[in-house]
Amino acid sequence: MCLKIHAMKTINDFNFRDKKALIRVDFNVPLNDDLQVTDTTRIEAAKPTIIKVLEDGGSCVLMSHLGRPKNREPEFSLKNIVETASDVLGVHVKFASDCVGQEASDAVTNLNPGEILLLENLRYHDSEKKGDVDFAKQLSELGDIYVNDAFGTAHRAHASTAVIAQFFPENKCFGNLLASEIENVNKVLSDGEAPITAIIGGAKVSSKITVIENILDKVDNLIIGGGMAFTFAKAQGGQIGNSLVEEDKQDLALDILKSAQEKGVAVHLPVDTVIADDFNNDANTQTCDIMEIPDNWMGLDAGPQTRAKFADVIKNSKTILFNGPVGVFEMPNFANGTIGVCEAISEATAAGSFSLVGGGDSVAAVKQFKFGDKVSYVSTGGGAMLEMLEGKTLPGIEAILT
Ligand code: AMP
Repeated sequence: MCLKIHAMKTINDFNFRDKKALIRVDFNVPLNDDLQVTDTTRIEAAKPTIIKVLEDGGSCVLMSHLGRPKNREPEFSLKNIVETASDVLGVHVKFASDCVGQEASDAVTNLNPGEILLLENLRYHDSEKKGDVDFAKQLSELGDIYVNDAFGTAHRAHASTAVIAQFFPENKCFGNLLASEIENVNKVLSDGEAPITAIIGGAKVSSKITVIENILDKVDNLIIGGGMAFTFAKAQGGQIGNSLVEEDKQDLALDILKSAQEKGVAVHLPVDTVIADDFNNDANTQTCDIMEIPDNWMGLDAGPQTRAKFADVIKNSKTILFNGPVGVFEMPNFANGTIGVCEAISEATAAGSFSLVGGGDSVAAVKQFKFGDKVSYVSTGGGAMLEMLEGKTLPGIEAILT
């Protein structure tokens, strides 16, 4: 994915005065048992786009999905979020109890400049996920300009995320959020200032292999941490005890190391590890060489030498990608490796480097350890960011560009 921001049409290329912007947002927010919104991040992320339209003198017709409904279960109704959305956006949000049909079109007709209408859950219709063209056409009739600001679903070829764009040959664009996700991934993958370092952690090699293959052409340093490091250690002849391993990925691990060497990428693997006698925060622990883990023990975090080595590489980097934690950060006793990475990234960022966190559980880690505002950019889309890092063309992005 190498899209130049100046080639993209964004909402800033349009004046929405007296126009109805049909905006695909990602309001797939978490709700508690009382159907109250517990995290407003996604609504806040869409706010700049919505406010720009309103300030131009236009109105917003918002479409989103919520969860995975099967039969219009009320807990998946977007009506549940209307009050919170109104509070976050600072404007009363009107609601239409279906996203197509007479009620939706009447509500749109009656919408005045400065107003916001939220349509009911798109996924109450099977046609949404099927990418049905007729359904997309019906949706398209609800606005003058189509804006895609739903990064979280940009990797899906659904009716509202991709198929609909064909009905707006001229009047389609990226919202602020989607544009900045693209811009920030480009700062690593196409415009990154060297040395560029990717920290790839997480549980399994198999879920990150395409990312690693894609970034090997772009980075100077590849830090491999977390559970996947043990497959590399075992493939190199190490004793890894009960640590997480993908037996069938050992050859792949060696191939990655060979390919990195051929491309001149320095690979940094853990040298020591914090081991435990159980997958449990209260387990007994000790530190040992990653190649010499005793039987019945498992490596759950980066050891002190590894933390220092990783920090050194990170602090000497101008561009940093953090994708996947380097330990079982959810358990406090195995969070130090990931916290150390976060600290090194924030230090590098404070000194002027660019850092992007995205496409894995590293986003949760960065937020949990309160480093969100100490890195340059935290991506809002897990699967979508992962696919961008894999070099895939996302249907929701492609549809706006073509
Ligand atoms: P991912 O979604 O691929 O980024 O994987 C994140 C998960 O990897 C987190 O839930 C971590 O707890 C887990 N993880 C990291 N290091 C290890 C490890 N050494 N052993 C087992 N799981 C790990």
